[in-house]
Amino acid sequence: MQFLDSLQADLDARRAQGLYRARRVLEGAQGPRVRVDGRELLSFCSNDYLGLAADARVSEAMCSATRRYGVGSGAAHLINGHTRAHHALEEELADFLGSERALLFSTGYMANLGVLAGLLERGDHVFQDRLNHASLIDGAQLSAARLRRYPHLDVDALARQLAEPSQSNNKRNSLVATDGVFSMDGDIAPIERLAGLARKQQAVLMIDDAHGFGVLGPDGRGSVAAAGLEISRVPVYMATLGKALGTAGAFVAGSHALIESLIQRARSYIYTTAMPAALAEATRASLRLVTEEPWRRDRLAQLVTRLREGMAAIGLPLMPSTTAIQPLLLGEPARALRWSEALLQAGVLVTAIRPPTVPRGSARLRITLSAAHQEDDVDRLLEVLQQLQQKNA
Ligand SMILES: *Cc1c(COP(=O)(O)O)cnc(C)c1O
Repeated sequence: MQFLDSLQADLDARRAQGLYRARRVLEGAQGPRVRVDGRELLSFCSNDYLGLAADARVSEAMCSATRRYGVGSGAAHLINGHTRAHHALEEELADFLGSERALLFSTGYMANLGVLAGLLERGDHVFQDRLNHASLIDGAQLSAARLRRYPHLDVDALARQLAEPSQSNNKRNSLVATDGVFSMDGDIAPIERLAGLARKQQAVLMIDDAHGFGVLGPDGRGSVAAAGLEISRVPVYMATLGKALGTAGAFVAGSHALIESLIQRARSYIYTTAMPAALAEATRASLRLVTEEPWRRDRLAQLVTRLREGMAAIGLPLMPSTTAIQPLLLGEPARALRWSEALLQAGVLVTAIRPPTVPRGSARLRITLSAAHQEDDVDRLLEVLQQLQQKNA
C-alpha cells in the first residue's frame, strides 16, 4: 500500500540522516545505575534530579495507598475519579508554593495543552520563547490564538512584539509562556524582567517549571521563588511531578478563578481518567522529602560544580548552565551519536539529543546530574569524555 510504503521511505531517510530514534529497555528502577541489555550502565540522562524516583519511602507510600485506593482511579476527576488523595495533594502543592489553588493533570504535556487550548480564544495572542518545550508550542497551535515566538531569552525582542499596534489596538488577551529552566539547554528564563514586562503590557505570564520545581529556590519552590518573586507575579505556574519529584503527572497553580476555569474548559483535564490515587499519595510523600531533605539540592549543586570545573579543565566546555542540565554541544547529529555510542561502550549512558528536539546544527549530549550520583560517578564520566576528546571523535 502506498501510504505504508511512504512510511518506510521516511524511516529510511531518517536513518540516513542520523535522526532515527530508538528506545532502550531498562530492566529495573531509575537511578545512577541502570540495567540495559544485561549490562549495568552509569547513567547521566534521567530527570530524576533529586534521586526520589526509586526512593523506598515514596515507593512504600504508593504501595500502601493501593491497599486503600486500589490501582485505577476508574473515572475522570469530574465524574467520580477525584479522591481524597488527589485533593490533599492539590492543597499541599498550593500551600507549598503560596498559591490560592492547584490542579492536577495526568502529564505535563496535557497540562500545557489544557491551559493554552482551554484558556485562549480566537483573536488572543500567545508569545513564546523560541526554545520552549514542544508541549507549550503544541498547546498554542491547538488553540485558536495567534502564536509569536521570540528569540531565546530576548526580553527586548518580546517587548517589541508586545508593543506592536496589531497587538495593542485590540482588546484581546495576551499570554507570555516560557520554560522556567530550558529543558535541553539548562539555562534559566529572566523571570523578573518577564514579569515586569507582562505587568506593563497587561499580558499574563505563564511559567513551565518542569525542571525548576523541587530543585531551585528556597525549599525547592522553583524558579519563580529562586528569582525572588512572589508566586502571584506569575499568574499561571505549571510544573511536572515526573522530574525532581520522581513520580508522574503535573499541576497548574494559580488563582481560584484560573483553576475553576481550567476545570470547566481544559479538555485534557476533562476528558481523561484521573491519575491513580496511589500516585498522588506517592507524590505527597515525595513533596515532604523535597522540604525535609535539603541536602539533596546541596549535593546536586556540588556535583554540577565538579562536572563544570572538570570539563573546563579537560578543554570541553559545557553550555552555560547552573542547573542539573549540563549539555555538551557537538553540532551534527552523527557526531552526537558517535559520542553517545562511545560512552556506551565504556559503560556510560548519555543520550544524544538531535533535531527536531533541538535546532539544526546543535545536536548535543544532554548530561543530567542527580543527587543520587556520587563524586566518583562524575569523575568516571570526565575520564571517559577526556579519552574521547583525545581520540578527537
Ligand atoms: C517534561 C516536560 C514537560 C512534559 O511533562 P510530562 O509530565 O513529561 O508530560 C513539559 N514541559 C517541560 C519544559 C518539560 O521538560
